[in-house]
Amino acid sequence: MSFPYEAPVSQSLFDRASVVTPGGVNSPVRAFRAVGGTPRFMVSGTGPYLTDADGREYVDLVCSWGPMILGHSHPEVIAAVQEAVARGTSFGTPGAGEVELAEEIVGRIEPVEQVRLVSSGTEATMSAIRLARGFTGRAKVVKFAGCYHGHVDALLAAAGSGVATFGLPDTPGVTGAQAGDTVVLPYNDLEAVRAAFAAHEGEIACVITEASPGNMGVVPPLPGFNQGLKDLCAAHGALYISDEVMTGFRVSRSGWYGIDGVRPDLMTFGKVMGGGFPAAAFGGRADVMAHLAPAGPVYQAGTLSGNPIATAAGVAQLRLLDEAAYEKVDAVSAELRELVGGALSKAGVAHRLQVAGNMFSVFFTDRDVTNYDEAKAQESFRFTAFFHSMLEQGVYLPPSAFESWFVSTAHDTRAVERIAAALPAAARAAAEATA
Ligand SMILES: *Cc1c(COP(=O)(O)O)cnc(C)c1O
Repeated sequence: MSFPYEAPVSQSLFDRASVVTPGGVNSPVRAFRAVGGTPRFMVSGTGPYLTDADGREYVDLVCSWGPMILGHSHPEVIAAVQEAVARGTSFGTPGAGEVELAEEIVGRIEPVEQVRLVSSGTEATMSAIRLARGFTGRAKVVKFAGCYHGHVDALLAAAGSGVATFGLPDTPGVTGAQAGDTVVLPYNDLEAVRAAFAAHEGEIACVITEASPGNMGVVPPLPGFNQGLKDLCAAHGALYISDEVMTGFRVSRSGWYGIDGVRPDLMTFGKVMGGGFPAAAFGGRADVMAHLAPAGPVYQAGTLSGNPIATAAGVAQLRLLDEAAYEKVDAVSAELRELVGGALSKAGVAHRLQVAGNMFSVFFTDRDVTNYDEAKAQESFRFTAFFHSMLEQGVYLPPSAFESWFVSTAHDTRAVERIAAALPAAARAAAEATA
């Protein structure tokens, strides 16, 4: 496809970046490879808007992949950060901010009795799995195809079609030894989980799942799926790890747990809890967390863990996230879904809007999507056309058909109207797209 609109400053930055950085980016999806065209280099963000290096403003529906739930540059978060920065940026000692953030998390999410702070969601899931293995003395980890838990070696095994259950690594650099203890199963398939426990009796340390997956597009758990996982884990002496890096503090005050109430043994968090800074966490049952160093033998550490700037931002953001804030985000999400669905229907485009709390995404298909194979069967080329039409009209969507869209409390009437105005042309572009 051709891109009639231009972004010369972004293009020249991307050219320079491509010389000094592989693919020109520090996280692959930012490179726009799934949709083509020039990635936009952003220079500032205010409320629901981002401004790129060419001076164009966009309504942001990515929100930094979830963290900016209060919009960009929220004055109270910025003030907390400035106040913290003025006191110094890192001490390598314990600090009050870590206690406050941990108390905020433990106070909101009842199954989290203790929590350890880390710097990224990847670190959180990696550490949670190590802890589960250390606690149970078992090696195997069950994960689901299409669920992303960061770039942890053992978790980069996704379903390769015919060999799904053998956990073949799907990236070079991950060895068979690292992925060999990973059992990959189709999402939303409790029968497969039951069979895996039967095939590996006494060997499975944990089942890790996205509380409600958002990394293959939004594919919520079918009723009873998470509870079924929890029950199977309990019956077989394995730990149930709910990865709430995306959903935590986003879909409700207490994340997806606040929606389905299924009690995990361990949970992982990131994104929203850092207020736009690198802060993440894992936590859960006190008797399991007691196995973590220095209380117990399972080693885990971090030079910048609990960094004072990150914890100040996280605490400020979480304290602003009261019930009213979630009602606001839920309402904006519902309004946008209505508008997007209406525009696509009007243009005659087959689609499914899938929802998990205030997260949602559009699948270009006429069937409900319940797992990764079904997600991949959509007509992604329609998304590409839709994406570029929206971008040209000043709406920034995730540059992939397999990502959730995110809104914030800052998405006001003006922002929604701008999105509404862009939708009819984008829906027509999707209708006219060819593979
Ligand atoms: C984003 C994400 C991660 C990885 O977090 P990073 O901070 O990018 O390492 C892990 N799990 C889920 C569910 C995520 O959405």
